[in-house]
Amino acid sequence: MVTPWEQLNRRIVACRRCPRLRDHCRQVAIEKRRAYRDQDYWGKPVPNFGDPEGRLLIVGLAPAAHGANRTGRMFTGDRSGEWLYQALFKAGFANQLHSESPDDGLQLVDCAITATCHCAPPDNKPTPDEIEACREWFAQTVDLLPVKVFVALGGIGWRTVIDEARRREWWPGPLPKFGHAAEVELGDGRTLLGSFHPSQQNTFTGRLTEPMLDAVFARARVLLECEPKAKRGSAAPRRDKSRDSR
Ligand code: SF4
Repeated sequence: MVTPWEQLNRRIVACRRCPRLRDHCRQVAIEKRRAYRDQDYWGKPVPNFGDPEGRLLIVGLAPAAHGANRTGRMFTGDRSGEWLYQALFKAGFANQLHSESPDDGLQLVDCAITATCHCAPPDNKPTPDEIEACREWFAQTVDLLPVKVFVALGGIGWRTVIDEARRREWWPGPLPKFGHAAEVELGDGRTLLGSFHPSQQNTFTGRLTEPMLDAVFARARVLLECEPKAKRGSAAPRRDKSRDSR
């Protein structure tokens, strides 16, 4: 039987809403990077990855051209993923430190990973229209998971969570300031944590260090441990009325 999580992922992979991004992913998959020229690139929208019962949802920006767009799994095949999965392993959200390919045995525990855009954009910059087009997948992901803690990797992921929280009436105010280790209490006991993205731009320059990233997931762990066990998984999804008319 195909689960709702698998159904959603299949719809994401089949999505064709953004011609510019789909063309870019295909083109990267044809041209390839020299180091990967013998590999078959995924070259399609990258599905969500992780535990369909995960209470921690990590929200990235978009797949990397030669990372997830190559391997077909979120944050797999590049340095950003190595940083992220090491931090998740240390906090008990992953069963192993390493991520190389979809068949490497990596499993997430009480945690899932999604993205604002599921297709790799040129220069890592999706347009506002492309972000809006991909919003429905994010909303359906939030519908399916019993999310209690969001970790936004970067300012665009931060905005994606807040925009969705507004639609669900979890957050009534203006956009809170994004920052590393920033924390916002959303409605119904949910929390949003901010983290600098583990991109090489941040890790090479020392803007983000391993202890800084570890601290965010340690905080997520504390928040989840504090949640009363009786409430786990009991939150009913709230309808996003704006999507009913799509
Ligand atoms: S970015 Fe999202 S909405 Fe656009 S084509 Fe990819 S999966 Fe579809």
